[in-house]
Amino acid sequence: MSSTIDRSAAQGSRNVWEMAQAQLDDVALLLELNPGIHAFLRSPKRVLTVSVPCEMDDRSYRVFEGYRVQHNMSRGPAKGGIRFHPDVTLDEVKALAMWMSWKCALVDIPFGGAKGGIICDPKNMSMRELEHMTRRYTSEISIIIGPERDIPAPDVYTTPQIMAWIMDTFSMMRGYSIPGVVTGKPIAIGGSLGRDKATARGCMFVIDEALRELGISADGARVAIQGFGNAGLHAAELMSVAGYKIVAVSDSRGGIANAKGIDVKKLIAHKSETGSVVGFSGGDAMSNKDVLECDCDVLIPAALEKVITAENAPRIKAKVVAEAANGPTLPEADSILFDRGIMVLPDILANAGGVTVSYFEWVQDLQENFWDEEEVNARLKRTMVRAFKATYEKAKQHKINMRRGAYVLAVGRVAEATMLRGVYP
Ligand code: NAD
Repeated sequence: MSSTIDRSAAQGSRNVWEMAQAQLDDVALLLELNPGIHAFLRSPKRVLTVSVPCEMDDRSYRVFEGYRVQHNMSRGPAKGGIRFHPDVTLDEVKALAMWMSWKCALVDIPFGGAKGGIICDPKNMSMRELEHMTRRYTSEISIIIGPERDIPAPDVYTTPQIMAWIMDTFSMMRGYSIPGVVTGKPIAIGGSLGRDKATARGCMFVIDEALRELGISADGARVAIQGFGNAGLHAAELMSVAGYKIVAVSDSRGGIANAKGIDVKKLIAHKSETGSVVGFSGGDAMSNKDVLECDCDVLIPAALEKVITAENAPRIKAKVVAEAANGPTLPEADSILFDRGIMVLPDILANAGGVTVSYFEWVQDLQENFWDEEEVNARLKRTMVRAFKATYEKAKQHKINMRRGAYVLAVGRVAEATMLRGVYP
């Protein structure tokens, strides 16, 4: 690790936005970034807070708070998901928007970074209430989104159906269909084949590469996954088919484990019947916390931020941590894992498959010309393998961890675009 880096800003930081800024500060020193550009990249370009009034099923009205943050648009229109969750904060959305800028640059797609969210509890809302809230939110943020400006996508607790409502609302306001305003849509209205599993598939591709570099066979390698939604469930499914052994899985209600390997098909059926992995008969109960620390080769955090901390990092047994979730590892935990020789595949690399296929979806929508799934997956693989190799080389060259390697590449690209364009006026 480079001794020139002052990590004090990162140490002990618990606010996710401070954590994102600390990660940038860390790499700014390494890149010897122009201080003006550093300051520019440290703040979001645009922050919109909206009130979202919504008529509930009992005819009462509730007003939700929503956000859309655009971090940087030097490399192209802003891109990033929308999160519906009770714990959404503006700081979280700002951090996620910044990470999107780096992620798009790392996989070298022509987008900047954005993110959105609404503070709400979608699990306790009816479909009608969700639709009304989504449509009003879309109308409120329509002043800054659009296929050439900012393109939302799914994130935690937002689905293809919600993307369909966003696309329809935006199209109704303009008077014609505009599928390119949002990605992660259902196939029937301009979605891309392969988008539903893209985050997980991309994550598997980089894990394959990492194990190859470490000389570990993927066949039978033991995998633990925290989170069993879009990212986690599909990772379990794709990786079990590819020969990995899924030994532990959890969701918001708890976890289950089976050292001999979980029957993922049966677990998915159990989850769709009961709403949780908890109570599955093909494994023993395990707490969410223990899933992170269980005996495995690959750990995939695929739920929320800040779950790997200085407290639990010393007990993590995996040889590779692949961040399907955004921001699961605190900076101080990063250093502990690096010192222990554990390879962390950072979020901006490990979960970039989602935005990569979102980019493919947007390209297909604009061209009105759709590709088959093999083509989507082959292009995804090329993109992910290229990004892994570039990151790995950078990390080796500077003797730094994979996150810093990825940041050196990504921040360097965004900074280059920003400097080439200059500061208006
Ligand atoms: P999702 O809503 O489909 O699933 C979230 C999962 O996390 C659910 O299984 C839920 O039960 C679980 N969960 C929630 N709280 C938890 C807790 N405290 N402990 C354990 N599990 C918990 O969301 P998703 O789209 O799979 O997103 C998960 C993560 O992946 C997020 O960090 C998101 O930003 C990131 N991500 C998603 C995509 C994508 O394409 N969906 C792309 C890039 C990154």
